[in-house]
Amino acid sequence: MKIHADYEGGNIKVIKTEGDTIFLENELRTNVIDWFYFSFCVEGAQGKTLTFDFSGARRLGYWGPAISYDYKKWWWQDEPGKSTFSSFTYTFGPDEDKVYFSQGIQYMPERFDALAEEIGLKKEPFSLSEKKRQMYSFTLGTGKYEVILTSRHHACEATGTYIIEGAMRELAENDKAFLEECKIFAVPFIDHDGVVDGDQGKGRSLDGVEVHDHNRDYTEDAHYDANRKIMEHMKANKEYIKGCLDCHSPWISGGVNDTAFIVQRSDIEERNTKFHKCFVEESKGLPLSCREEDVFPPNTEWNKDGGPKFTTIAVKLVPDVLFSFTLETCYYGFEGNKVTQESLILLGRAFGRSIARVVRDSTK
Ligand SMILES: [Zn+2]
Repeated sequence: MKIHADYEGGNIKVIKTEGDTIFLENELRTNVIDWFYFSFCVEGAQGKTLTFDFSGARRLGYWGPAISYDYKKWWWQDEPGKSTFSSFTYTFGPDEDKVYFSQGIQYMPERFDALAEEIGLKKEPFSLSEKKRQMYSFTLGTGKYEVILTSRHHACEATGTYIIEGAMRELAENDKAFLEECKIFAVPFIDHDGVVDGDQGKGRSLDGVEVHDHNRDYTEDAHYDANRKIMEHMKANKEYIKGCLDCHSPWISGGVNDTAFIVQRSDIEERNTKFHKCFVEESKGLPLSCREEDVFPPNTEWNKDGGPKFTTIAVKLVPDVLFSFTLETCYYGFEGNKVTQESLILLGRAFGRSIARVVRDSTK
């Protein structure tokens, strides 16, 4: 039997094995705060029942780990009594020679490339990552106006990328007329290295002391090339940019973290509220929705308007922007409002319809 993380997105350290229990830790790497992302593969454990134990650290949601055989299709373990927030027990079937386990449902660049092929996105070189990997932007439509969509400022936050995919699918399939007015410009993997290397990304530090991750880097002397490129793009296209939306996942679980919510800003609160109302209407009745109460108030707790994050720089560089906020989409949700690959795409489709409604309303 082999437990490893030798693949894109992999992140695990095996501490010790005692009988059928394997003690694990996730790797924090350049993080200066604790975080919860892990992803590992078990090969050759057919017929065994094993317990994977994170020694009390909170690394799992309500339904055990996300599971995959091919790293593309994901489901929750969802066996009552088999998991806690820090451990799970899994029985490998006779044919399960290779099983991936992850803290959340994954979304890797390969999937976005396939989407680009399928629905005809224009894929163009955008930036070079810290480790000199080529990063891309993806454009849908030809309109003179533009809405910018980003995700993975924090590498592990894969739910946000499903929202972008859903929004693009919806507009490509059902609203071509809108795309002649307004294009969607997406950079779905801002911390590209972190996504591929399986880093946390959230809480990353450059000096080992201060948090300086990709969503703390929108400053005059930005460290990351991708952040500089985003700012250049905003400056160059500010007359035409209608919206700037940054898709994230929140803390692991509990309370507001079990919902899809808008991180509100005080400077353009009314404008964002208009979008939120549309989004509530468009997502009503879906298996995962954004409700009226799913708003995090501005300048409360961790939500600071002035921080050097994507939405702050958007409001500064594109003062007439119709909406600019972070959408936090939960990792798990709750019964009746549950995260799956399918429910995330449906919520993203509602996000796409909301974009079209608000932009149309401003240009008619
Ligand atoms: Zn985030």
